[in-house]
Amino acid sequence: MRKPFVAGNWKMNTDGRSGVALAQAIASGSLQQASRKVTVAVCPPFVYLQSVAMALRASSVAVGAQDIYFESNGAFTGEVSASMLKDIGCTYVLCGHSERRHVIGEKDVLINKKVAAAIVGGLLPILCVGELLGEREESKTEEVVTRQMKEGLVGLSDEKVAAVTIAYEPVWAIGTGRTATPQQAQEVHNFIRNLLAEMYDTPLAESIRILYGGSVKPDNAADLMGQQDIDGLLVGGASLKADDFLAIIRAAV
Ligand code: PEP
Repeated sequence: MRKPFVAGNWKMNTDGRSGVALAQAIASGSLQQASRKVTVAVCPPFVYLQSVAMALRASSVAVGAQDIYFESNGAFTGEVSASMLKDIGCTYVLCGHSERRHVIGEKDVLINKKVAAAIVGGLLPILCVGELLGEREESKTEEVVTRQMKEGLVGLSDEKVAAVTIAYEPVWAIGTGRTATPQQAQEVHNFIRNLLAEMYDTPLAESIRILYGGSVKPDNAADLMGQQDIDGLLVGGASLKADDFLAIIRAAV
């Protein structure tokens, strides 16, 4: 059984005070009951990770970073390592989010190093994959996702891959208000699970959580979660409103 997982990606939003208030509202709310059945995490900007982690320390809400660097320390100005993230209370880290791929220009080779470094450093990476609109229109979704999965996970043993969560986020659905239909998402999630079975084995593929992300809102969360291979949700915009995020968590139970 895969425990549902809802993660909020705050992107470059909030400030110190509103981030802590948002975290506190999420930790309270009606989360106590739901949290036993759902893994919940929030991913604030780097500079607020520590204060949010402090605010959440007595709760079951985990903290994730939005990015990581693959080296453990040294002359890498501006970068943050796995051990630093672990040190301040992070459990998860997003790797290869579409904005890092398409705005910042990260390639699969770099993303793979980040996934590997996260695991070695004791963090649980969430590897994000997903196609651009043009790629979907050219029926290249499976090709793109296969490349991102294979290159993103290359070199990882079965044991290490067990630490990974996959997030399927079609780029055309992120922040656009245009969600993939539950059927469209399920199709790709099922494809990813079969791919994992090919790359590793069926029991491992069955144990790995695959989240959907892309304009998830309280009113579409339950339908998405109703799909067999959708194990959770990676939420951007709606994770910035405590009421919406809590409603999405409840829909994931
Ligand atoms: C995201 O940031 O990963 C995301 C899915 O954003 P949104 O929910 O706003 O589309």
